[in-house]
Amino acid sequence: MKLRKVTAASAVALTLAVTATACGSDNKNDSGSSGGGKIKIGIKYDQPGLGLKEPNGSFSGFDVDVATYVAKQLGYKPNQIEFVETKSADRENALARGDVKFIAATYSITDERKQKVDFAGPYLLAHQDLLVKANSNISKATDLNGKKLCSVTGSTSAQNIHDTIAPKANLREYSGYSECIAGLQSGAVDAVTTDDSILAGFAAQDKYKGQFKLAGLKLSNENYGIGVKKGDTTTVNKINTALEKMVSDGSWQKAVSKNFGPANYKNEQAPKIGNIVK
Ligand code: GLU
Repeated sequence: MKLRKVTAASAVALTLAVTATACGSDNKNDSGSSGGGKIKIGIKYDQPGLGLKEPNGSFSGFDVDVATYVAKQLGYKPNQIEFVETKSADRENALARGDVKFIAATYSITDERKQKVDFAGPYLLAHQDLLVKANSNISKATDLNGKKLCSVTGSTSAQNIHDTIAPKANLREYSGYSECIAGLQSGAVDAVTTDDSILAGFAAQDKYKGQFKLAGLKLSNENYGIGVKKGDTTTVNKINTALEKMVSDGSWQKAVSKNFGPANYKNEQAPKIGNIVK
């Protein structure tokens, strides 16, 4: 931990030195809101293909690429980004406290969440699904009655199970999907439920290859938005402009192919800004 902080500090020092040297020459891209400071962005740390902290400390995934693109449009270079883990249940509070400027963390836009935070986007449409062992005979929501099902506290996935999809399932709520997947592998739970985008990323990991299958059910519409602090309309508008550009210049499709290709996840086409699929 200490070592990482020192490294980050030297990176900042280096950036400052370079900026100072370049002063008055070619630093016009720096003219945004950044100045040379940092931007904190909330992501997931344990979702392969979306938001993942790699063992070497780097970050990967579609949300990471979206966040990096958006940050650039706001005037921040990659080395000015500080990624912060925002678990499903922590997202609204992290924004309200001002811990992060924005959140790109498989964060579905919902009316309930809109009471507490504002959203830019959507930038991806996913659907709730089930992940089960390759030899499981669970194939539809009604098969879940009395079965041990895992999802994450504070997610729409858990809420939908309670409310409509399978109220009679024995739902366990963990703090992250990686814990659910470990439970599925060990046999502690019979199925994991969340967005198909997330489940496909886990299923494609080398250590799980061939062990799990997705049911392929579109149990809900999950419109991924970028969360910002309630009332920060300026940032929402800037992020929406950035997302539109990401689609129109081909970067969105590039990020999709890079991050979802390996998982063989067949995503929906890019949503239009403001178009929420109910
Ligand atoms: N997209 C859903 C949500 O925002 C599930 C994934 C997650 O927990 O991040 O609740």
